[in-house]
Amino acid sequence: MQNLNGIGMTSQRTRERLLGRLMDQGIGSMEVLDVIRSTPRHIFLDEALAHRAYEDVALPIGHNQTISQPYIVAKMTEAIIHSGPIETILEIGTGSGYQTAVIAQLAQKVFTVERIKPLLDRAKKNLKLLKLRNIDYKHDDGSLGWEQKAPFDAIMTTAAPQRIPVELLAQLNPSGGRLIIPVGADNQQELKLVTRNAEEYSESILDIVRFVPLLMGQVQH
Ligand code: SAH
Repeated sequence: MQNLNGIGMTSQRTRERLLGRLMDQGIGSMEVLDVIRSTPRHIFLDEALAHRAYEDVALPIGHNQTISQPYIVAKMTEAIIHSGPIETILEIGTGSGYQTAVIAQLAQKVFTVERIKPLLDRAKKNLKLLKLRNIDYKHDDGSLGWEQKAPFDAIMTTAAPQRIPVELLAQLNPSGGRLIIPVGADNQQELKLVTRNAEEYSESILDIVRFVPLLMGQVQH
């Protein structure tokens, strides 16, 4: 079994350094910072990369995908919880499960969808190791959301479409549901926050980011 506390470069000191960096970059939510402080990112990485887990960078997780940069995880999470506690959240793009672990500690129930089966299986195993049980998993193309479980107080997409799928907007809670999503071309996207109130949607741009593309269909192996 993996060591949850970490050794050497994954020590508490390197984790604190990451926290300092996130604060310097403007992350102000103590709730988010506390969760990031206590969530072991190294268990979501291959052993060969685990020593870099507390650097503020995206790292490869296989299948041409990456674990998100901690700053981006913090920024997206902060934007989502900004207006109060979240009951249900849909995450599209489970990947390593690191972002899932963070939001599972701040929302009552997480629904997460991943199109690459081996990534989903590994994420599930690691999230179980962390004893996070308020998560429902689905192996599917999540670009159309998860209609049976809608509406959601929040939807978070960790892969970038060219434009926002209307299905996701329709699955937001009509009173204050929030969607956070990178939108645009492969090499650079706008991180957008859309808030739904009745039938009105208001949109703001939070940052310029670089995510892997949101792709169609499923992958079994
Ligand atoms: N937050 C994750 C980021 C993973 S990268 C982490 O920190 O590990 C984005 C993930 O989105 C990849 O695993 C990719 O396979 C997945 N993805 C891309 N398009 C998708 C789609 N249409 N449906 C579900 N998952 C998708």
